Amino acid sequence: MCDSHSFSRRNFLQGAAASLAANGLPDLNTSRSSLRPADMGPRRISENLFVLEDTCNVYLIRDGNHGLLIDFGSGMILRHLAELGVSTIDWILHTHFHRDQAQGDQLAVADRIPIAVPRHERHLFADVERLWANRRIFELYETRNEFFSLTKNVPVSATLADYDTFQWRGHNFFIQPTPGHTAGSITLVTQIDERTVAFSGDLMTAPGKVQTLYDLQYYYQEQEGVDLSIYSLDALAAHRPALLCPSHGREISDPIPGMQQLSAKLSDWFHYWHPGGSQTTISFEPTQLTPHVIAHPLATSTFYAIISDSGKAMFVDYGSASWIFFTAFRDATDTFDRMRFVEHSIGKLRARYGLRSIDVAIPTHMHDDHLNGFPHLARHYGTRIWCFDNMVEILENPRGRNLGCTLGEVIKVDRPLRDGETFRWEEFEFTVRYSPGHTNYQMAMFATIDNKRIAFTGDAFFSDGKSEMRHNLIYRNDVRSGDHVKSIRNILEMEPSVIAPGHGSPFAITDAIAHDFEARVKRQDAFFRDLIGDPDTDVGLDPAWVQIYPYQATAVPGRPVSLELRVRNHRAIPIHLEVALSLPDGWRSTPSSVRLAVDPKGTASAPLEMTIPFGWSGNAQRTAIAADVIANGRYLGQIAEAVVDVRSPSRTTNSI
Ligand SMILES: [Zn+2]
Ligand SMILES: [Zn+2]
Ligand SMILES: [Zn+2]
Repeated sequence: MCDSHSFSRRNFLQGAAASLAANGLPDLNTSRSSLRPADMGPRRISENLFVLEDTCNVYLIRDGNHGLLIDFGSGMILRHLAELGVSTIDWILHTHFHRDQAQGDQLAVADRIPIAVPRHERHLFADVERLWANRRIFELYETRNEFFSLTKNVPVSATLADYDTFQWRGHNFFIQPTPGHTAGSITLVTQIDERTVAFSGDLMTAPGKVQTLYDLQYYYQEQEGVDLSIYSLDALAAHRPALLCPSHGREISDPIPGMQQLSAKLSDWFHYWHPGGSQTTISFEPTQLTPHVIAHPLATSTFYAIISDSGKAMFVDYGSASWIFFTAFRDATDTFDRMRFVEHSIGKLRARYGLRSIDVAIPTHMHDDHLNGFPHLARHYGTRIWCFDNMVEILENPRGRNLGCTLGEVIKVDRPLRDGETFRWEEFEFTVRYSPGHTNYQMAMFATIDNKRIAFTGDAFFSDGKSEMRHNLIYRNDVRSGDHVKSIRNILEMEPSVIAPGHGSPFAITDAIAHDFEARVKRQDAFFRDLIGDPDTDVGLDPAWVQIYPYQATAVPGRPVSLELRVRNHRAIPIHLEVALSLPDGWRSTPSSVRLAVDPKGTASAPLEMTIPFGWSGNAQRTAIAADVIANGRYLGQIAEAVVDVRSPSRTTNSI
């Protein structure tokens, strides 16, 4: 992710010059029509705040003879700068990607005005032509209104990251995530002429009103944007804005009653569509498992706060606020971005359960639905991240493997935990066990708290609501025969009385339930042997026994990239491999082929260096490569692959 503060006009001008050199002069006529719309001229809201009603409201904040714009509409504002005493526009900050906010951006590019956009909508500005090339229109169920995107790429000079502050000439713009009207929308909160002003895009158009309902539907028949808007109105109200500046409609003084009114009406609308009693996300309540253990079973993944008498908390998992949030953000995530996360539940833990700080967060396993909030905790709460030792590489280098449910953001691990390790944290003692099956990168953590023996088991076991436990099977998660049996053996040996699962509510566990489960997963192993033709069963379970590491490499033309070939031998005999990379014309690997001997049931790796020729200009940012393999004399062909993201040396904006 790029930090908005690190961007200067100079960086932008270099970028603009590079893009002009690459593409020739921008053809403004293709992005403008011959219409001559009426221009009412700007209106003063307060001493240094103006609005022009264009295709959207364009707000100008003035500081001396410098100006900053919130959204840009068709660009009509540029005609009025002199009369407003402004000679230079330093920035355009966009609240969201819709065309009415940004259709004139090519004019700003021509005037070399830098543009900053919401971090999770960067691709809908800078790379929007890729959206149009790939967005399926037939069989439309993803009804999310990406169709109201720009038609041409716009160079982006900075991204506006949630909960960060954008600084301009002594003004601080707090970036409050306000998803709803779009999944990536932001509100910019700042002080202007001694008032707290919120530039809220299309969150609310008038007290108690939205501009459109269709923008609040992301998937066929769903109402995600309604639930998200209710969250956003509540989160924005915490800033106590004195003036709300919407993208459509008049600015609203003392907006909180109108925001509450809208929230209540949207909540009624949500319940109209969920008569069975589904709750809006902000109304989810934590439940007390024991006096010191608070569970949140309604979040995407159930997360647990273990709160010590000192007020320090340990979080076991911390993902999205709800399934609605999770799916809405997941489906809107760009190929090169990470899923959005907005803060939730912490205020309730503080108010009701005496939480003072979040000292440590531990993921039960490496899945995004369980640790999506970890970077936020580390960044904004100083939380230390501990995890099971085989997850460290995945958290610290998420581009390395192609596994299910990997979060696209680097998470720095402060302490690895080992299989069998017992550790103390505050007044509690925990024991950690390796617990493969759902994924190889999972642990079970056992503790006796308030006289309850609890097992935090992630996604190893789920209750069926009666007297059985269920499990699941995802081959992309590195699963082997025997793994699920190993996970239930931990339970039989450690004898917890309560399973605290990764989804759903905690439930009581007995020996009988555990033995039933063991029998059930032993049958799974029998199915594996029965169904897979290869006598070495795990060969048929592992799509990645030969790997190019990292799976998502990054490369700059002319500079060597270090890769690694990794092999897992599932057989009882040694394997001798000969491997060569299959690369685009002109790319080179050193050595050109690699020989590897892998012990029975063992692993091996070998380094390789790959170089893309200087000046290489493939037309795609991402290129696939493959590994061609001979094993024990048998030609298996290109059984492994990876992708290479080619970056120019000056390219700085990428999230991971
Ligand atoms: Zn809009
Ligand atoms: Zn999982
Ligand atoms: Zn999960």
